[in-house]
Formats: sequence, structure tokens, C-alpha cells
Amino acid sequence: MSYVEDPKVGVYCAPSQLKARQMATITNAETKEHKSAPHRVLALYKFVEPRVPKATLQGLQQELYEECQKRRAKGTLLLAEEGINGTICYPFAEEQDDDRLIGFLQKKFGDGLRIRISHANFNVFPRMKVKIKSEIVTLHQEDCHPTECKGEYVKSEKWNELLKDPDCLVVDTRNEYEVHVGTFRNAINPHTQNFVEFPEWMEQHLVGDKAPKKIAMFCTGGIRCEKATNACRKLVPNDVAVYHLEGGILAYLDEVKPEESMFDGECYVFDQRVAVTYGNRPSAKFTDSCKACRHPLSKEDLESNAYVEGLSCAWCVEKLTEKQKERFESRQRQVQIARERGVEEFFDPDQMKKKRTC
Ligand SMILES: [Zn+2]
Repeated sequence: MSYVEDPKVGVYCAPSQLKARQMATITNAETKEHKSAPHRVLALYKFVEPRVPKATLQGLQQELYEECQKRRAKGTLLLAEEGINGTICYPFAEEQDDDRLIGFLQKKFGDGLRIRISHANFNVFPRMKVKIKSEIVTLHQEDCHPTECKGEYVKSEKWNELLKDPDCLVVDTRNEYEVHVGTFRNAINPHTQNFVEFPEWMEQHLVGDKAPKKIAMFCTGGIRCEKATNACRKLVPNDVAVYHLEGGILAYLDEVKPEESMFDGECYVFDQRVAVTYGNRPSAKFTDSCKACRHPLSKEDLESNAYVEGLSCAWCVEKLTEKQKERFESRQRQVQIARERGVEEFFDPDQMKKKRTC
């Protein structure tokens, strides 16, 4: 595939994407005026049964993109035959009685669509993307179907009982950099760098002599646990109970009072807020994240000698390979070019990935 340069963005993209990128630029420019206006952040997902026919995915992608553009939403939605997953953010004043975007999504995906609403006073994403993927949460396990079986849902108000239960092994299914920011007291950290490593961890720690009587899993918004507890349910004997924190940490922080909470720290999120705290309010501690390893960065982290913008931080400086360093340097050069042109917020690292692989 050949690429053309988008002069507004300062990076190369496929000709077919140029129009969409320019449209996004216009929308971004418009939304700039609303930077300190109230916004809604929707974290949503649903595994569907029957699966979405492959032939209809592209039409659905287009429809979702257009509706999101209409509502000035930004963020990423992932579509696959197994369902939908994503987080989007759009201007919305809470006194408005009617959220048409939620109405549209519910009409498209039915009542079982899980939506968690939080708030921001600016748009926490730079642009809108709707992507077609083979999975809405990447686990690389073809026989993983959360609609067939999964862990038993546990509401936030009952979650502390499991954390205090000596027979229950509570497992954080998230990645290392997310666990560092905050996790539940008594929870196990599997030290995974990527969710695809999680099944192997389960095979090594949840079966055989070390098998616990009860297993409880949690993640940010609940979607990773749909797959993790499905795989776990199939792995462990039937007399082992498998639980799943319904709505994830985001639901817990929204519903449990700080004085009763057993969550220490803040909850890592994949947008410009970096992390959220009780009531799903944006973090006051972390102001940025490392573009190399994604670790959230506090004021002290940003002042550390190991921190070089776009290239490294104290959490990753010792671990980066030569190949990674080269990749991050090249990406940072592109950021610099975009910054000089005054279009940094439209720079898309994903676009570079495509350029490299085509
Ligand atoms: Zn780092």
C-alpha cells in the first residue's frame, strides 16, 4: 500500500484514510473551544450471541463512526464478531436529560450492553477510531467464549468479603504497570506485561497442589475478566468457585465509600486522565504517562533523570531493548515535527505502526 502525507497531521497515511483524518482534524479544532466543558466518558462492552456476521462488520463500523462524529465523540471502539468494546468521550452537560449516543448504542447492541459513565472536563482522547479486530480483548485463545460460561458476578458491595476470605485467592488480571498504580489489598499480582500472558500464569498457579478453593478475579471495567474467568472456569475443577467483580474497579470506586474501601492507590485508565480515583474522578497524583512503557508518571517521576520525553522513564529505562529505543526515538521525532507544526494532538502513533508493517 502506498502512503500520502497529510499536511495537517505531518505523518503519512493511506489515501483512503486521508479524508477521515482531515474530518477528525476539523472536529478536533471545533472541540478545542469546548476544552473545559463537561464531558461524559463511556467505558462499554458486550460479548454477543449469536456472533456478529463478518459481512456486516464494515457497515456497523461506518455507522458507529458517523454517529460518534455527529456527537463530537472521540476515543476507540473495537468491533469483532464476538462483540464491541471501547471507551469514548464527548461533550455532555449532566442537566441534559437525553443522551442520544447512549440511546443509539443501546439500540444497536441491546440491553446487555455494559456502560460505565464517568466524567471529565475536557475530551480525554485526541480522535475517534472504530476498528475491526479479530477479538475485542486480545487473549489469542480461539476457544474462549464468555457467553458460554464465566465466573459468577459479584457486586462491589460484596467484594470485600472475598478479599477477607482466607480460602479465596483474589487475582488482579491486569498488567504490571496498571497494578503499580493501585490494586486491592490481599490481591495477587501475576506480573504480566500483556493480557495474553495471563492463561499461562493460570496454568502454573491455579491447578495442582497450589489450587485454591475459591478464585476471584478483577480488572478495570470487567471485560478482561469475562475472558479470564471463562478460561479459568474451564481450567479448574467444578468444585472450585470462580468469581468476577462485576463492572471491575471502576464500579467499585463508584459505589464503595472511601472509608470502607479495600482498594489502595488509584485505577489506571487508558486515556489522558492516566488514572481515576473515588467517584471516578481524575487522578490528582499522576499527570502524564511514559510513552515507552505506559507507566503513569507523578511530578517526581517527571523530574527523575531517567525520564526523557517519549523515550524512557525510571520504570523502563533499564529494560528497553535497542530495537525499542530505535522505535521510540523515531516516534518522538514525528511528535516533534507535529508539535512544530502545531498539530501534535493529531499525531497518531498507530499510523506509524501501519507504515512500518506495510
Ligand atoms: Zn517508561
